[in-house]
This record gives sequence, structure tokens and C-alpha cells, in this order.
Amino acid sequence: MNEIKSMPTTERKKIKFLQLIFVDINGVPKGMEVPIERYEEAISDGISFDGSSIPGFQEIEDSDLIFKADPSTYAEVPWDGIARVYGFIYKDDKPYHADPRGILKSITQELAKKGLRIYIGSEPEFYLFKKNGTWELQLPDVGGYFDLVNLDKAKDVKREIALYMPYFGLTPEVLHHEVGAGQHEIDFKFSDALGTADNIVSFKYIVKAVAESYGLYATFMPKPIYGMPGNGMHLHISLWKDEENLFVGEDGLSETALYFIGGILKHSKALAALTNPTVNSYKRLVPGYEAPVYVSWGYRNRSALIRVPSYKGKGARIEYRCPDPSANPYLAFAAIIKAGLDGIKHKVEPFAYVEENVYEMDEEKRNKLDIETLPSSLREALDELEKDKVVKDALGKAYRNFKEYKEREWEEYTEYLEKKDIPLETKKVT
Ligand code: GLN
Ligand code: MG
Ligand code: MG
Ligand code: MG
Repeated sequence: MNEIKSMPTTERKKIKFLQLIFVDINGVPKGMEVPIERYEEAISDGISFDGSSIPGFQEIEDSDLIFKADPSTYAEVPWDGIARVYGFIYKDDKPYHADPRGILKSITQELAKKGLRIYIGSEPEFYLFKKNGTWELQLPDVGGYFDLVNLDKAKDVKREIALYMPYFGLTPEVLHHEVGAGQHEIDFKFSDALGTADNIVSFKYIVKAVAESYGLYATFMPKPIYGMPGNGMHLHISLWKDEENLFVGEDGLSETALYFIGGILKHSKALAALTNPTVNSYKRLVPGYEAPVYVSWGYRNRSALIRVPSYKGKGARIEYRCPDPSANPYLAFAAIIKAGLDGIKHKVEPFAYVEENVYEMDEEKRNKLDIETLPSSLREALDELEKDKVVKDALGKAYRNFKEYKEREWEEYTEYLEKKDIPLETKKVT
């Protein structure tokens, strides 16, 4: 293996600055840097900032917010001589309603009171492009799924990413080339919902930084290239009470797990607005690329929206295959948890069970099996969300911020199409 390109520096260099990081409504990390001496103050009193220009946050006339560091997330950035910490946002001494991390935290705290915990594992995929000083992007290799050696031009980049991950609290598990040329996946150990949401944010940050040091551009865009596989972010989900996995039944999945699946299926169209929140997300959800298109579930079936992977012992879980890495993980997890719990509460039987390839079924057969279609655009997904009280309530008052922001995104997109004279129906190929 090649020598690590950029050796950690903080071990040698005294840390002088601390990055205070939160995410905006899109899940994009934002923050400010303070001298490390202010760390104590950032934990106790918090550091005030102006939230007016953060996407999805405050209006300009009322934008004073406070960041309070969450010391359990402190990490030293190995290549930069700085440290970083995630935190929660407050407004007038109360948790700020549109802080995605705060929203997820309050849901997991509610569960913790009942001894419950959701564990989530994620499989974020990404493409690497060569940078050549222009916006023209070039794929660095022609490799495909699980290719090795000369077909995987990014093996050193991936290994360097994996070696940095533990500095940020992530444990790398698997590195591999994905189906698309220049497409890759690195999986890391699952954690509780908040931990995994934090890890996803950290992961993208590490991937982008290391790729940059190799003159590459990493993108987690759901469908960067027409005709090539999209970037998914499958989620593996289980519900635990104390040390017991409630998804384990006597003979296969428990009833609780089946109702949880029922809940996700029932709310899946509205959930799409959060798990697939960009205009581009819907270009991935087309037949033929291992991304779901229909609302269905099955064991092992990779054309289904929910797959139950084979497991041993306590490993019972469901794999939700719709999410993509453009999702804000905090908001997406909040909504998924509420949808699943709604299924348990109302004993929603999972419908649309399939063991065949759903892409190959005709409409008549799909109708017979109650298989519905996922939204085919952000527009449809936002309309589904508007109708779904359970999923909307998962966001609380932040639903308004989310909706306003996303409506504007859709508007800008349709305005662009009009200007270019592109009919909306052709959106999947533009
Ligand atoms: N890239 C596929 C998706 O969009 C997943 C492929 C895989 O992991 N086998 O979901
Ligand atoms: Mg995988
Ligand atoms: Mg994959
Ligand atoms: Mg998977």
C-alpha cells in the first residue's frame, strides 16, 4: 500500500482553533471557528451567531441564535491543526425549532425514556471525478462493481479516507468499487440514530477533503450522470429495548418489525420528500439501476423498497433502499422513526410483498399485488408530504421552514426549464 499522503498534523501541532458545526436544512455542515480557549464557554453559555443566511433558518429581522457545543462529538481534525465539535442551536434560551440535530435528539430522547433505541447503519455511495480546472468533470476510472487493481484508480484515496475515519469516531468496515465507473462505497459501523446522522455528516466531510488532496472532486449527488447508476444511501434499521433487538421474532422477524415495515410502507411517499429531497433525487429512482421505484418489500429482493437481509442472531434489521445521500440525515431519520413507530402503534400490516423483480412486472400485476409507485418528482413528494400528518409532525415547526425552502427549489427548477424551453415531462433525461 502507498504511504499515506497527508500525515496527521495535530499530534505534532498544538490545536489553536475549534470549528463549531451544525447543519442547515439541507444537512450541509455550516459553522464558525473560535480560538480553542472558548471551548468551555461554547459548552456552557454557547456562542451567539447570526442565522439569517443559513438555508432554511431565520428571517433577517429575527436571526440571533446560540450554538452550544455537544462535547461528546469533539474530534481533532488530523490534517488541519484544528478541532471540531457538533452542537445544538438555541434561540431565546429554548431549543431552536429548525435545528435538525435538535429535532432528532428530542425524538431519540423521547424513545430513551421508554428504554427504546433505534440503531441505523448506512451505505453512502459517491462518485469521484478528476478536476481539470474547469467545470468539465472526467471519470478517473472505468471500473465496475467490486473491481480491483488497475480498474480501481481510487484505492489509495479510499484507504486514506478509511484511515482518517477513526479520528472522527467512525469505524470503517468495507471499502469497494461500486457499479458505476468512478463510483465507490465505504461502509462504517452502525450506531444509534443521532450517532449515525453525525457520522454521515463527518463521512462526507472526510471524503470530500481527502478527494480534494488527490485533485479529485467527490460528489454524493443522487444521479450525477444520466444512464449511469445513482448514488444511494441504503439504511439498515432496527429497534431495541435495552439489550434486546425487538425485530427478532421466534421464527424470523417479529411482529413489531413487520408493523414497523408497514408504517414505513404506508408513509413512504411522504418520506421520500425527506429521504430524497432534491430535484436530482428523482432521476435516480428509475428502473434498471438497483434503486427502488415501487412501494414494496421482500426478503433479499434488491428491487424492493424495503429488503430484509438475511441475518444471524441479534442482527435482524430492515434495509430501506430509497434514501440517497442528498438527504439531511437528521430530518430523514426523524421522519423514518416516526413512520415506523406509527406502524407499530396502529398495527399496520406490511402490504405489497414481492419476491420477484418488480421492475419486470406489468402494471396489471403490480395493481393486483397493491404495489404503488414512489413519487417521480420532488413536486409529487412535497405534495405527498403535505398530506401526511405523521411525517410532517416528525419535523414539528421546522416543517414550514423545510416546505418553504423546497418549494423555492422546485420553482427555480421549473423556471429554468421554461427559460430553456424544456418540457417538464422530459425532466428525467435533462
Ligand atoms: N447504486 C444503487 C442505488 O442507487 C445501489 C447499488 C448497490 O448498492 N448494490 O441505490
Ligand atoms: Mg453496500
Ligand atoms: Mg452500494
Ligand atoms: Mg445495501
